[in-house]
Amino acid sequence: MRIHVNDPLDKSAMERLMNSGYNVTSEHLEKEDLIKEIPNIDVLVVRSATKVTADIIEAGKNLKIIARAGTGLDNVDVEKAKEKGIKVINTPGANGISVAELAIGLMISCARHIAKGTMDLKNGEWTKKQLKGHELYKRTVGIIGFGNIGREVAKRLLAFDMRVLAYDPFVKETDMNVEIVDLDTIFKESDFITIHVPLTNETKHLVSKDAFEKMKDGVILINAARGGVVDEEALYNALISGKVYAAGLDVFEVEPPTDELRKKLLELPNVVATPHIGASTVEAQLRVGQIIVDKILEEVKKL
Ligand code: NAD
Repeated sequence: MRIHVNDPLDKSAMERLMNSGYNVTSEHLEKEDLIKEIPNIDVLVVRSATKVTADIIEAGKNLKIIARAGTGLDNVDVEKAKEKGIKVINTPGANGISVAELAIGLMISCARHIAKGTMDLKNGEWTKKQLKGHELYKRTVGIIGFGNIGREVAKRLLAFDMRVLAYDPFVKETDMNVEIVDLDTIFKESDFITIHVPLTNETKHLVSKDAFEKMKDGVILINAARGGVVDEEALYNALISGKVYAAGLDVFEVEPPTDELRKKLLELPNVVATPHIGASTVEAQLRVGQIIVDKILEEVKKL
């Protein structure tokens, strides 16, 4: 039984796997090398860097388990794995608090010009008079996607005394002090909008030109979910026109965001951006690592 870890796991999780008695290898193989090696692998462990595509799965003659240490499964061809009878496991929820905290960090940074203030000061400029911001207190936040992360965000924003709205087609009620509303109400009534949905055919460009037109002037938009949920061309235009006061982005439709559209988006002073670090905390990686190792060892025992 060979377990191959293709993207680095937390150190203590890796040690547990190494001591499990199985043949464990750990090295990042690029696609071509992985395709050559995959016939000798029973369990493939990845985070987000490795794209487990149909041709890799097809070549995996002995592959029995694909373990994704993280939430989304968008880097794994789940349909192909299913077709080949390969079990796919992941760690939903394990990094939710980290993502929720980053989304709120982006929100406050947008509202209070923290990133711009930092840059100005480092450039020797005292821009105090130009950086009047907004409070979160008593303002309305719309959460799109009321799953694990959406709820963690709501819990924290309620402590800021915000009015919290949430839209999720699969959630009809909640015992939290949150109003479950339709998507148009989110767009029309929110001062802040934060996105916490997976990228699917239904959510692709969910926040589009039409959506921006429905929004309040001066709305603040946060995307720490997946690039592609927001139409970034429409976002750029909405930032330029002043419709959107500021945007906080951890994810982009193109990553790294080096193409012309993303470059001009990042040049705007009212865009606060981070390089897809929502889940990148010591705590989340520890949790994700431990949970994925638990699940791998449990599944391997059943083989
Ligand atoms: P989750 O599955 O618990 O919640 C997602 C919610 O979105 C579900 O409740 C689902 O019903 C809802 N949803 C699905 N389609 C929708 C639609 N069309 N409109 C509104 N809601 C819809 O997942 P989660 O753990 O809360 O994670 C949410 C997303 O955050 C993930 O899918 C992933 O894309 C993203 N994420 C980002 C990072 C990061 O590093 N920035 C890390 C982890 C997760």
